Amino acid sequence: VRIGNLRGRPWLITGDRAGIDINEASNGRFSDLPTVYEQWEEFAEWVPAGTDRAVQRSFDPSVLEAPSPAPRQVFAIGLNYRDHVEEAGLRVPSEPSVFTKYVSSFAGADCEVELPPGNVDWEVELVVVVGRTAHRVQAATAWDHVAGLTVGQDLSERGLQTAGDPPQFSLGKSFACFGPTGPTLVTPDEFTNPADLELGSFVNGEQVQKARTSQMVFGIDVLIESLSRVTTLYPGDVIFTGTPAGVGVVRTPARFLGPGDELVSYVEGIGEIRQRFVPAVERSLA
Ligand code: ZN
Repeated sequence: VRIGNLRGRPWLITGDRAGIDINEASNGRFSDLPTVYEQWEEFAEWVPAGTDRAVQRSFDPSVLEAPSPAPRQVFAIGLNYRDHVEEAGLRVPSEPSVFTKYVSSFAGADCEVELPPGNVDWEVELVVVVGRTAHRVQAATAWDHVAGLTVGQDLSERGLQTAGDPPQFSLGKSFACFGPTGPTLVTPDEFTNPADLELGSFVNGEQVQKARTSQMVFGIDVLIESLSRVTTLYPGDVIFTGTPAGVGVVRTPARFLGPGDELVSYVEGIGEIRQRFVPAVERSLA
């Protein structure tokens, strides 16, 4: 099953530009995305019969918003691919390295990013949305708590990310539109192996990242075990699972995103998201 967020309303996506308005088909029972995740098991049971004879409508994919627009928590994992740890000249962590992206950085699949001052870099990531409350869950049953997977970018302004001693990651990764996800949420049963998917990114058509999610240091099951040992993961919560090698900051010379650049990121079996970068507009503070 593929779920899209069309202007805040959940849609079951059935084609490139076709789908079923879930709010309409369920007579308001599943009216928005948070409700879908909150009632994930009931929703999954409802889908086959509830959408069987529903009206299919066409939609414009460029208006797809974040599949989980209002999570209670957002987790992001640093240094979770060995080749990225190596290119960064760091050591593979013994425990997952966790930070957050604030929800105000969220955006949909297709968006324009206003460049803040500094050095903005790309990080394609597989993003997990939680479908069932998870507390002290073991890796062996962790996938039962996953609603689905989507494509994300963990856009990062490297100056702010690494300023300070010790550095704090979250703010430099939370400018407006720095956390786009989409285009849709795909449930794990849609994949032959949801733990082994190709992902990558292109800048102006040139491929800069390419890897497989099976190369993660801590796989999705282990991440859920590890995060839920401390916190409770709630339905709709979002986990950015880390980026593979190929980011701009470690290149010689370093390469960053500038005005006019276009970034495309994909995960096999899910689709792609697209960001265009524009210069900052001078404004006075409110
Ligand atoms: Zn990242």
